[in-house]
Amino acid sequence: MGCTFEVLVPSSIPGALEGAEAALDEIVRLDHCLSVYRPDSEVSRLNAAAGLGPRPATESVVEVLSLAARLTEETGGAFDVAAGALARVWGLHGGERRVPDRGRLTRAMELTGMKHARIGDDPPTVELRKPGVELDFGAIGKGYALDRAAMILRERWGIASALLHGGTSSVFALGSCPGEKGGWLIGVRNPADETECVAELRLRDQGLATSAATHRFFEAGGKRWGHILDPRTGWPAEGTWSVTVVAPSAAEADALSTAFYVLGTAAAARHALSRSGVGAIFTRETGAEPVVQVVGDLEAEFAAKVRVERVTQTAAALMPGAESEDTRA
Ligand code: AMP
Ligand code: MG
Repeated sequence: MGCTFEVLVPSSIPGALEGAEAALDEIVRLDHCLSVYRPDSEVSRLNAAAGLGPRPATESVVEVLSLAARLTEETGGAFDVAAGALARVWGLHGGERRVPDRGRLTRAMELTGMKHARIGDDPPTVELRKPGVELDFGAIGKGYALDRAAMILRERWGIASALLHGGTSSVFALGSCPGEKGGWLIGVRNPADETECVAELRLRDQGLATSAATHRFFEAGGKRWGHILDPRTGWPAEGTWSVTVVAPSAAEADALSTAFYVLGTAAAARHALSRSGVGAIFTRETGAEPVVQVVGDLEAEFAAKVRVERVTQTAAALMPGAESEDTRA
């Protein structure tokens, strides 16, 4: 999945080393299922078989695709793993990063969307219904792998305390750090100066993920283009520096950090209101001191120089036809 994973288990816990190795083995197994960077991965084989009917799939791929389909529905298409054709024309899967011409973009959009994917349960199958449709688990796979690895630590090894991360941008905290109450202490980096944190928060049996366009961007036509795409328009999402999401699982945090990056604060606040245990910290491009905007269910300590705004959506804004109300305090 294109990053380094770490599993930290307190050495005082019996079976710590063996448990951590088993957790990492599960992550390696899932990399062979979910990575689009491996030509021999299960997802690469499913993509190559697009348009050829249902193909057998592992339970892991069916599980992550089912979760992804639910999140596509809930985010109105802002999160969509069936946007691999779009990621390819923007050069996100290797090759040249470029702004695609109109014809290529239109063709890629015709091949984008979960409506092109069918999941079968018994036996597990996946069907991509047009040649050229591609799945890309880049925005959810790391989180899913961390959840599975944490489950192995907990259920097979009886380990109730561990911190797991993929590339530091996806995290799962199992229990609490020994000797500390309230969970593992995690810092949220300032995207404008990565030696600093804008916030610290405690995680306990929760996932966290950050999506940011501060590293993976290219410049063309006097603009910076990031790697997070809006599958509804075909263009990279803009306006946010970074968004960090806390959720009950690392897979949801991973997917929602990407979705919230696309949706922006008001729609993210609406989504967070409908889900318990989901909250997010946005940092905005201001040029001056960092401004963070907080949505949903989230408690954190913010650095003294950071300006904090809470974005709330009233329940009325969720009613069909109601005016959206965006309240900042
Ligand atoms: P993340 O860094 O977790 O936000 O994931 C970004 C990666 O997921 C990109 O490199 C693409 O491969 C893929 N991706 C980009 N935009 C989306 C989107 N809106 N929904 C799902 N996957 C996406
Ligand atoms: Mg993500």
